[in-house]
This record gives sequence, C-alpha cells and structure tokens, in this order.
Amino acid sequence: MGFGLAGALLAWELQKLNVLVTSDDLNESETSSRVAAGMITPITGRRLKPTWRGSELTQIARATYSEVETKFGVKLWHEWTLRRVFREEIMRTWFHERLAHGEYEPMQITDIAPGTHDGVGYPFGGFEHGGVATVDIPSFVDLMKPKENSGSADADVTVTCTGYRALSSALWSWLPIEPSKGEILDVTIPGLFLDHVLTNGTWILPVGGDKYRIGATHDWDDQDPQPTVRGREKLLEAATQLVHREIIVTGHRAALRPSTKFKRPLVGRHPIDTAQAVFTGLGTKGALQGPWAARQLARHLAFGEPLDTEIDIQRWWKS
Ligand SMILES: Cc1cc2nc3c(=O)[nH]c(=O)nc-3n(C[C@H](O)[C@H](O)[C@H](O)COP(=O)(O)OP(=O)(O)OC[C@H]3O[C@@H](n4cnc5c(N)ncnc54)[C@H](O)[C@@H]3O)c2cc1C
Repeated sequence: MGFGLAGALLAWELQKLNVLVTSDDLNESETSSRVAAGMITPITGRRLKPTWRGSELTQIARATYSEVETKFGVKLWHEWTLRRVFREEIMRTWFHERLAHGEYEPMQITDIAPGTHDGVGYPFGGFEHGGVATVDIPSFVDLMKPKENSGSADADVTVTCTGYRALSSALWSWLPIEPSKGEILDVTIPGLFLDHVLTNGTWILPVGGDKYRIGATHDWDDQDPQPTVRGREKLLEAATQLVHREIIVTGHRAALRPSTKFKRPLVGRHPIDTAQAVFTGLGTKGALQGPWAARQLARHLAFGEPLDTEIDIQRWWKS
C-alpha cells in the first residue's frame, strides 16, 4: 500500500525473489518521491560528515538502479562532481580536521582556497569531490508500477509504504516518524552554465542548458504540503549568494518527507499483526538508503532473514 520510492524499491526486490506483488496508491502528483531531486552525496550536512555507511550503501544503490536501467533500457543514474562553498570560517576548520584524520578516504578531494573561482565567490573557501549521483526517482517509480492491480484480498502480507502518512494509520502511529517539509524550485539562470552541483547548504543542480533545480528546505514545524513564499525566498537568497545572477523561477514544489530523528529507514513486520509490514522513514536519503533497506525487507518477508537492528522497527515497539 503506497507506491512511491519505498513501494517501488520493495516491489522490485520482491519480484526478483519471484514474489507476486500488487499495489494500491493514491496517485497524488506532489509526493516526496515526485518532487525529490534524488541526490546521493558522500559528505553531508553543515559539519561535513561522511555519509553513514556511504560507500556500502552507494554500491548497493548503484547496482539496484543499474539492474533496472539494463532491464528497461533507460538512464536513471547520473554522476556528478560537487563543489561546496563554506558559509562560515568554522567549516573550513572542520573540513581540514576531517581531511587530516583521513575521514574522506578514498574519495578524491580538492581544496578550494578562499576567492572567486569560475565566477562563484568562496569567501571562506570550499572543496570539490566526486562520488555524487542523482537518481530519476519519478521515472523509477513509474517503471516499477505493477500494470494490473489484481487485488490484495488474498495477500499473505500487506506492506504499508505510504511515506509520512504511515503515522495516520492506527497500526503504525507508534513509529518515530517526524515529517519534514521540503520545497524545491525549477529555475532558469540566464548565462550560467554549470557542469557540477554547487552547494552552500542550498544546492544548485544542472538539468540542461541554463535550467537548474534549487533545493531544498527542511521544515519540521509546517505540516502543510503547499509551497510557501518563505520557502521560495529562502532558496532564492541562498542561490543568489552562490551565483550573483538573475534567477527566473519556472516551478515551485513541496512535499512532506518521511523523516526520522535518527535518520534511518523503518522496516519490518508488525509485532502483533504479522500479516502487516511497513517500509518508511527514508527521510532525506531515500535514493541512497532505500535500495539497501528494500533488499533486506524483501528477504525478511520471503525467507525470514533477520533485519539490520538499526532499521528493524522492533526497537521502537513499547507495548
Ligand atoms: C523537496 C524534496 C527534495 C528531496 N530531495 C531528495 C534528494 O535529493 N535525495 C534523496 O535521497 N531524497 C530526497 N528527498 C526525499 C525523498 O523524496 C524520500 O526519501 C522518498 O521519496 C520517500 O519515499 P516514500 O515512498 O517513503 O514516500 P512518498 O514519496 O510519500 O510515497 C508514498 C506514497 O503512498 C501514497 N499513499 C499515501 N497514503 C496512502 C494510502 N492511505 N493508500 C494508498 N496510497 C497512499 C502516496 O500517494 C505516495 O504515492 C526529497 C524530498 C523532498 C520533499
């Protein structure tokens, strides 16, 4: 039940195990999976930490999307270099500490000295690295959708993959989901031709010619999934600080992510009603963590294999 990224990944993994899958979805146009940029980055957040299990999870993600690309003759995965602009002096210190401790190995990292490079100001410097990818999540979901919904009345297991909406189900309201609203802009930036992702916390992602996506906001208080003037201005202000050019907004979208404080997916069978299972909690890292979690859940449902305790929902069950 629910066919966004989580549902699509699980369907793919189950079908590989010869399990028959049917789906039921609300077919909304503005869900997290529909508006997501699908970015995978090996270094995340203001503190510039290496992504949790980044290398292992990226390999699994790459392999999964690659299987789908081969089967359907489509391109879903695009690789990028990324340039990060430090917003404050302390980031330069954190970066050099992590670099000196070898935390970024074996990534290729290029230090960017304070100054202007390719028309972009780096007041406190920055750095460049590879290992970044984007996944075309909407196309992936569309490819995975079962052609016929032959009904689920005789299903052995029903898996709730309804994103943040799992919270409104009596079965799953105990899960530690904290929906986070994200807004994203489609823009034209005349005269700018970037061949890399540029970020100062807000990123600018090239989509062809002088067209870009700018994202994303993170708001845990506003639970109304509508785009806001505040979100738009926040993104435009940060992007203008990066490129100092006119930015023409051509689209503005928003959705609620199924986030969790501990930043891990939530998967498993219901502790009491074992014919029910759940797959949610993909948060800001669905493109990366989703394939790994889906593979485990599929094998858990089909063969009873244990789940990684970091993502197994049993740890949150209290009664
Ligand atoms: C602005 C923005 C940018 C993002 N950028 C990135 C990024 O760069 N990289 C990244 O990895 N992640 C990104 N994400 C997060 C990513 O979108 C999520 O991790 C992922 O898509 C969540 O997928 P999901 O299937 O769990 O949830 P959803 O996408 O919410 O899908 C749930 C589905 O269930 C359906 N549904 C809900 N209730 C019911 C019901 N009762 N019955 C039937 N169907 C139901 C919904 O209609 C929907 O189709 C971004 C999110 C946003 C909002």
